[in-house]
Amino acid sequence: MSSAASLLEDRSADHAPARPDGLTSEVLKRRVGQRRQMLAVQVVSCSLSTLILLVYCYAGTISIVIPTAYFVSGVGLTGFFLVLSEAHFNDRFEDHYLTVFQVGGHVALRLGFLLAAPEIGYVFLSVVFLIFGFGALRMTPRQATIAWTLTVVGLAPIFFFTSTPIGMPVDTHAERFAATLCYVLTIGQCAFVGLYGSSMRKMLYDRSFELKAAYKRIEELAELDELTGSLNRGCIMRMLVDEIARAHRSKTPCSIALIDLDWFKRINDAYGHPTGDEVLRAFAITVFANIRAIDKFGRYGGEEFLLVLPDTPHDTAARILDRLRAIVADLDWSAFSPDMRVTISAGVVTLRPDETDDAFFARADNALYAAKARGRNRIAST
Ligand code: GH3
Ligand code: MG
Ligand code: MG
Repeated sequence: MSSAASLLEDRSADHAPARPDGLTSEVLKRRVGQRRQMLAVQVVSCSLSTLILLVYCYAGTISIVIPTAYFVSGVGLTGFFLVLSEAHFNDRFEDHYLTVFQVGGHVALRLGFLLAAPEIGYVFLSVVFLIFGFGALRMTPRQATIAWTLTVVGLAPIFFFTSTPIGMPVDTHAERFAATLCYVLTIGQCAFVGLYGSSMRKMLYDRSFELKAAYKRIEELAELDELTGSLNRGCIMRMLVDEIARAHRSKTPCSIALIDLDWFKRINDAYGHPTGDEVLRAFAITVFANIRAIDKFGRYGGEEFLLVLPDTPHDTAARILDRLRAIVADLDWSAFSPDMRVTISAGVVTLRPDETDDAFFARADNALYAAKARGRNRIAST
């Protein structure tokens, strides 16, 4: 089974307990339902062929024994597979439809009737086409080759080693009616098989879209910080390393800012942790609204954030950060509490030639420390 298919099965069985064989009871239930549907289609198809045989019986071409035996054996074989299915015997196999066995059994039955009533042999041969058409929807190329070989082994001797004439009698009106009915119903069933195949394709197509969307969401979640929606630490640090390498390569300036909320512990203590969370969220939204599309903003940890400013010389970076600082300081935080004030401090540094990632980041950290030491609500550089 492909990994996509197993994913689909697992997904639809979210809440069911897992079994040791890896199949949840929900998946097993759904499989039984699918098999019942397929077996019901077989019973309908067998009934339609029996109808044609009854017309031939009415026309006097064959005895009533043939349609009776045909219906009983066809439904009996389907019933046998139904019992296996309900007993979950099928679930031991990768192909839980037991397609090759079903195709083999039903083809053998029709070849038996071809020998028993060769005078209307084309009816049974038409059914063989349908069996293959329907079976091939579920068969792998290997299974189809096996089923085809078995059919050839059964069919070839009938044609080559018996002199039995295989007929399509159309001598009377009733026989012509039966022949017409046979072709009309066979063509109808061929169309059904085609439509069934295309509906399966459409379902897979839709599922693949759903899966793609789900994968995209998972990827996004893996990159984002849950609380603030900014990039998470792993992601922003990866981007920092990439930007440093790019800046060294292309000899373009690269600046970063390590930003820390001032006296944040006091905010938590005064207004509570949930309000502290809201402040962090509001701060992140404010930053996003005031940076460029090329800038990357992520949460380094706690109330400390990293802003990566590609292609940005030091004076521009310092200007951007001081503007951000002023925006945060001037924000109206009264929605949280009338007397709340929030400020930030930032260490802003620009990459030096041949500077390592660690040395660059350490300089930003030192600059932040300096900004705090000088009284907070300010930016500093080294
Ligand atoms: P400073 O100006 O020196 O940075 O002072 P500060 O109080 O901001 O720094 P300190 O390191 O003493 O405290 C940081 C606080 O941030 C403590 C911690 O509880 C809080 N904090 C860290 N992560 C979160 C969070 O996700 N939500 C909330 N509400 N608080 C957080
Ligand atoms: Mg702080
Ligand atoms: Mg801190």
